[in-house]
Amino acid sequence: MSDPTRYAPRPAPYEAVGKRAPLAPDRPGFLVDLRRCIGCHACSVACKTVHEVELGSFPLRVRWLPDPGGDTYSFVPVFSESLCTDDAESLAVGMEPACARACPTDALVFGDFAAAGSLLGLAELESDIRRLAGPDATDLKQEVVYRALPEWVGAKLNQGAALDPKDEDPIYEQR
Ligand code: SF4
Repeated sequence: MSDPTRYAPRPAPYEAVGKRAPLAPDRPGFLVDLRRCIGCHACSVACKTVHEVELGSFPLRVRWLPDPGGDTYSFVPVFSESLCTDDAESLAVGMEPACARACPTDALVFGDFAAAGSLLGLAELESDIRRLAGPDATDLKQEVVYRALPEWVGAKLNQGAALDPKDEDPIYEQR
């Protein structure tokens, strides 16, 4: 017999309702430390799950880009300017966006660039912090900065391929 609770509605992340002040950053954004990212897709899956994003649409996609110098990959979470809304529902109850909460390695951090002494504000001043850019990528979220972003990544941003071309929702990619 099937478990009747298996498909019960998912509880919203509201354990903080009434307990935490809403997060209202003046200049919200993300810091992505690629030295920490393990390409697990947890951020992308959390985003799609929490926001019930339709198949084939990715507010946040994790690219697996083959390193031109060897057999390794660079894992690069890529935010869509038009689709990522910083998870206003979570912010309203004092919680970070679902993607940041899901990250197991603290590679993905949400915060306020404008807050004095904030992690993001300080990171933005570092010399090796960069924003993502690509020749054909026109929908990159602006308020995302990357630590340890390889120079060659931009040229390959749109070259990820579905692992299985028949997959309707190909979130796992390789060359
Ligand atoms: S940013 Fe975090 S959750 Fe996203 S793929 Fe990297 S390690 Fe996984």
